Amino acid sequence: MAVPLFDTRTPLAPLREQIAARVGAVMESGRFILGPEVAAFEEEWAAYLGVPHAIGVANGTDAITLALLALGVGPGDEVVVPSFTFYASAEAIPPTGATPVFCDVDPETFCATPDTVRAALTPRTKAVIVVHLFGNVAPVEAIEALGVPVVEDAAQAAGARAADGRRAGALGTVATFSFFPSKNLGAFGDAGAVTTADDGVAERVRMLRFHGSRDKSTFELVGQNSRLDAVQAAVLRVLLPHLDGWCEGRRAAAAHYEAAGLGAHAALPAPIGGCEPAWHLYVVRHPRGDELLERLVAAGVEARAYYRVPTHLQPAMRRWGEGAPLRGTEQAAREHVALPMSPVLDAAQAREVTTAAAP
Ligand SMILES: *Cc1c(COP(=O)(O)O)cnc(C)c1O
Repeated sequence: MAVPLFDTRTPLAPLREQIAARVGAVMESGRFILGPEVAAFEEEWAAYLGVPHAIGVANGTDAITLALLALGVGPGDEVVVPSFTFYASAEAIPPTGATPVFCDVDPETFCATPDTVRAALTPRTKAVIVVHLFGNVAPVEAIEALGVPVVEDAAQAAGARAADGRRAGALGTVATFSFFPSKNLGAFGDAGAVTTADDGVAERVRMLRFHGSRDKSTFELVGQNSRLDAVQAAVLRVLLPHLDGWCEGRRAAAAHYEAAGLGAHAALPAPIGGCEPAWHLYVVRHPRGDELLERLVAAGVEARAYYRVPTHLQPAMRRWGEGAPLRGTEQAAREHVALPMSPVLDAAQAREVTTAAAP
């Protein structure tokens, strides 16, 4: 039996009527953009993370750009970002006028470290984007201790916790989320959020998402139109109470892979520093990643390599990324293979994937 890469439908099925009722209520209200539904979601998301402020925005890419702008990033500044990530982490930088500077990752965790970030710092560095890649929790505090504000790109880490119990998204100066449908907390369209404990940053993001205005009549900043809509907020409010349970399901799926003996055929991902990962993706390593991938696909397993060409070598980024000696990134790009992962992946499926992975 084919094993799908992810399964968003099964976890949503029992919530269908509740979602329809809440979306119907939004329709009745006639308030479709921002409004009370978005304000309620912002409060619930902030409370879930344990941060004072959450601001709903249009998507996870805008969230990063707005967070950087709110930190005062602009022309002449540099922003450090790992090359081994989804392209949008870096793409969000040039619209601020700043220059992306690519840093390396630890090829075993796929995340940046204080050492890889330190190597990319210059006197012009204004911020560092730290990506909690695949739902692991990168060492945000140790990186921020280098003396530069951290923007956590937590798009893949909704539901993850650091070893001390704090949530990914509550660790840096500011954090960004995507609620793209396939993420751990997925809306029914594009949606995102910025979270922070800094009142000033929160206020600026609130203005920037709405044309730089507080009151819709005076425009103090050149902002954007990047608002969250009420239907997405309504869906997210129904799903949020289930996020922790779904993340437990993902960690159980990881345990199924371990119990099935997958570790004999590939290097399995491990939580960084005792964290509780959200395993948005379950990504293993193999010295010949493409060979493993071919075996899996031939057996009907929907495995996938996400970032074979890392961001600094993408055509649009080469002018900033060329020549960067990023050995960990190159190794990660070559070796990584994402396996099926979802809150409902069971032991039988994990065994099937493991059998397919055997040479
Ligand atoms: C999904 C994702 C984004 C972008 O989010 P969108 O909502 O699609 O704009 C940014 N960074 C990472 C790491 C992502 O996985």
